[in-house]
Amino acid sequence: MHKPRVIVVGAGAWGLPAALELQDRGWQVTLIERFEPGGPFASNGGSSRLWRLADTQVWRARAMAETLAAMERLGDRLGAPIHSTTGLVWRDDQSLPAVAEALASIGQPVEHIDPDRVGEVFAGLRPDGRPALWVAQGGVVHADRLLGGALAAFTAAGGEYLPATRVTAIDPDPAAPRVTLASGETREADQILMAAGPGTRELLPGLDIDLPLTPYIEQVVHLGGPGGPALPGLVDCPIGDTPGIYAMPDGDRGYKVGLDQPLRALAGGTLGDDLDRAAWPERTEIIRARVARDLTAVEPRVRATQVCTWTDSGDGDFIVGRVHPGVTLACGDSGEGFKYAAFMGQYLADLVEGGAGDPEYQLRWNPDRFRGQAAREGFSAIGRH
Ligand SMILES: Cc1cc2nc3c(=O)[nH]c(=O)nc-3n(C[C@H](O)[C@H](O)[C@H](O)COP(=O)(O)OP(=O)(O)OC[C@H]3O[C@@H](n4cnc5c(N)ncnc54)[C@H](O)[C@@H]3O)c2cc1C
Repeated sequence: MHKPRVIVVGAGAWGLPAALELQDRGWQVTLIERFEPGGPFASNGGSSRLWRLADTQVWRARAMAETLAAMERLGDRLGAPIHSTTGLVWRDDQSLPAVAEALASIGQPVEHIDPDRVGEVFAGLRPDGRPALWVAQGGVVHADRLLGGALAAFTAAGGEYLPATRVTAIDPDPAAPRVTLASGETREADQILMAAGPGTRELLPGLDIDLPLTPYIEQVVHLGGPGGPALPGLVDCPIGDTPGIYAMPDGDRGYKVGLDQPLRALAGGTLGDDLDRAAWPERTEIIRARVARDLTAVEPRVRATQVCTWTDSGDGDFIVGRVHPGVTLACGDSGEGFKYAAFMGQYLADLVEGGAGDPEYQLRWNPDRFRGQAAREGFSAIGRH
């Protein structure tokens, strides 16, 4: 029997679960990856990412609730859980009503925490006059387990995996969609799924679509000593000009903290050959000092630093949809795409199979929405959609 063929470009947070899902659905899948999953250059490196039902927008809370179910299913498929639930504290003086409303819309309880009681839900959190929400449904996606498990399952199921292979062009010819590799070889399929994260922009010529994509690099720091209290996840939103932080427990690697502010944009607006991922010592010190001041239960000892890339979409929403009869595009993660990985695997597989997608997501994520529109100034920050 002829199996339909699909090429998935990018074995990252979205492409890899989609490749596994399509392989499981009977497609003949070729997964092409410029580096390897979990490496430093794209967006999926490191061991952990924060997941949260808490958001200012109803549709995101709903997508995350669907993701929770998808993470359970993917964990079952891989034979090991890919996420942990630790609860989450969201502190802000602006966004709490919207977050509480979004959570109420999906039937999730929240607890309102007065400014001087924040230490009761997050040991050692310095009160700063702002109230918070305690949300039980939040925690950590085990990024390394998800990617490693999905890749092992994909190859075990017969998927073809081409690591260290760079796609240089995509031809959407409806009669024979194909990709060109850096070696000059071309590969044809019935469908192509482009999930190249920060490498998307250089592949757009030829697809007759221009997108306001801005890849940034950003830094996180692991801190702490042995022992200490078990802390939940944290979103501490910006105050005036002071950027917010996001943070999560990361097993024996310590407590992982990121400043919600990029180091810089990637040269040329794409991954290209801008592969400098060295941590900035001054950024490490800003995060360390912030932890020493605000997260007093975490020993302010730097254990590791990590830099990776995320790609702003121009309005902070994802860009997902079919852009040619044989090409589906998924990009513009806006710095918060990993938590949706399990859900995206199924959603993208549906699109590749000709499905239209959820009407609201279809509208929000429509790649056509930028035609004739200027991208907004600045970058996406948590709680400021
Ligand atoms: C510091 C930092 C912290 C973050 N924290 C969180 C968080 O707490 N929670 C959360 O949900 N998200 C978080 N994110 C964002 C999350 O990691 C991304 O949203 C997610 O990885 C995006 O998935 P993707 O599949 O679009 O891109 P990627 O994961 O980057 O996958 C794209 C893949 O395509 C490959 N590729 C690129 N170009 C080519 C090419 N030409 N040929 C072949 N392959 C190619 C890349 O090598 C890469 O492996 C964070 C990101 C950063 C940088």
